[in-house]
Amino acid sequence: MKQNIFSREHIISELPQVKKWDVIVIGGGATGLGVALDSVTRGYKTLLLEQVDYAKGTSSRSTKLVHGGVRYLAQGNIDLVKEALYERGLLAKNAPHLVKNQNFVIPNYRWWEGIYYTIGLKAYDFLAGKLSLGKSKHINKTKTVERLSTLRQKGLYGGVVYRDGQFDDSRLATNIAQTCIENGATLLNHFKVTDLLQDDQKQIIGVEAIDIETNESYTFSSDLVINATGVFTDEILRMENAEAKKSVVPSQGVHLVFDKSFLPGDDAIMIPKTDDGRVLFAVPWHDKVLVGTTDTNLDDHSLEPQAQEQEIEFILKTFNNYIEKKVTRADVRSIFAGLRPLAAPKDSSEKTKEISRSHKVIVSETGLITITGGKWTTYRRMAQDTINKAISLKKLPKKKCQTEHLEIHGAMPTENRENHMYIYGTDQKGITKLVDEDLSLGEKLHPRLPFLKAEVIWAVRYEMARTVEDVLARRVRALFLDAAAARDMTAEVASLIAGELHRDEGWKLNQIEEFTKLANHYCIDSNTVIA
Ligand SMILES: Cc1cc2nc3c(=O)[nH]c(=O)nc-3n(C[C@H](O)[C@H](O)[C@H](O)COP(=O)(O)OP(=O)(O)OC[C@H]3O[C@@H](n4cnc5c(N)ncnc54)[C@H](O)[C@@H]3O)c2cc1C
Repeated sequence: MKQNIFSREHIISELPQVKKWDVIVIGGGATGLGVALDSVTRGYKTLLLEQVDYAKGTSSRSTKLVHGGVRYLAQGNIDLVKEALYERGLLAKNAPHLVKNQNFVIPNYRWWEGIYYTIGLKAYDFLAGKLSLGKSKHINKTKTVERLSTLRQKGLYGGVVYRDGQFDDSRLATNIAQTCIENGATLLNHFKVTDLLQDDQKQIIGVEAIDIETNESYTFSSDLVINATGVFTDEILRMENAEAKKSVVPSQGVHLVFDKSFLPGDDAIMIPKTDDGRVLFAVPWHDKVLVGTTDTNLDDHSLEPQAQEQEIEFILKTFNNYIEKKVTRADVRSIFAGLRPLAAPKDSSEKTKEISRSHKVIVSETGLITITGGKWTTYRRMAQDTINKAISLKKLPKKKCQTEHLEIHGAMPTENRENHMYIYGTDQKGITKLVDEDLSLGEKLHPRLPFLKAEVIWAVRYEMARTVEDVLARRVRALFLDAAAARDMTAEVASLIAGELHRDEGWKLNQIEEFTKLANHYCIDSNTVIA
């Protein structure tokens, strides 16, 4: 029988074969996965360790945009926008099953906004060059309302339509992880780095890690360790130097998810300037509408950040300012918060909105390389810069980057996104086959969501999901789409996983308890804290 290369038992059994790795990556978010992919495809022996699950951190909590950043254009940050637009174009080609060409409408409530935004967005199109997703245009009031039927009409002059990419962040993370493994990398989730190993000269020579499932400790050797841990960056830096200064500050962004009836149709709304000067998006996503985000400076970070009451109020109020059909707290299907790993400001008066969003590669005296900042859209470029840095430091032999035109696992041209399983791309037929073999797997997990039992089996067998949370939060997006429905599915999903992984009743009960607690956290009234 053919070996399943995604099986954890298989991956762990092969670990002793490698005495020394060329590259060890800590962190399995967008950044770490990108680095692992760049590294392995250049031919370096690569190991990536993720303490929980791929995209458990910020990388599953984004606004789901593959974009150049219209806001950065307004700030005159042309290089950043140009780089991101180029990466947007590459990602749309390399993962077409996951990146949708999305229309965004900027509604105009002041007479000059039509001209102002049309000119700005023409510049945005121009900067995308050959990789443009389509031309932006001005539309009149009637056409704007035709496209956005729930939009507030009082005071409306018209709108400006432009194109950007829209994606599913944690599914892209899963597919990148699969691509890494298919190219020969070793990746393990639920595997936490607990310490850095240093030689007599204080140079990094590897990591200590623990398998969270078995509590077994491991030592892995490498002269090149890359810290890609997002808001956890400083915890790793303090393993090499207990006195290390703060290099990353978390800035929280919250999203609320509503039923599609609040924004029917295919178009997204982009509000370029909210009361606090930020941008707010309302984006159709998996038959729901995702609204966000905020920008709240925090002192601390966690794997499950909590929305603050004023962030929720701000999103509800701002969204309601723009729509006729008003949302209330009771309409919120899910609420989630993510933390931007922004470079710490030099001066405490610097606001988070103004802190640089471009990425930074930092080399410590110990040889540890840290990559922070940036965004999902530019994950590939960030990885390329990181590995190029390692080459320039002579930590790796020179080899050319291979990812520019590298297809991501599942890639196939995808026009029709009616069936929710389009997201699997070429894997969709594998899931259909599971259903053909066992019709019970074709049953839905919940009447309010489209996900099938077969998707749970697929996630465990081929997508490295190990827990109810891995499946319901990041393989299918139930937790982010409808937290109460996700909570209702817990027992069923725990049983399906237990069958696949041969787990006992105790494991199942523990999973049910853990996930129920987590899902409550995504239901609005159990979530919030008053800051
Ligand atoms: C609200 C919000 C909206 C955003 N929207 C967009 C958007 O629409 N488009 C876009 O392009 N970008 C967006 N971004 C930016 C983008 O999401 C982030 O830049 C990106 O996800 C950061 O990825 P990362 O890998 O650096 O961090 P993370 O995803 O947080 O990954 C770090 C990983 O390291 C792991 N880790 C930590 N310590 C250890 C350890 N000791 N051992 C092993 N593993 C460890 C963590 O578990 C975590 O999974 C948004 C960000 C936020 C906060």
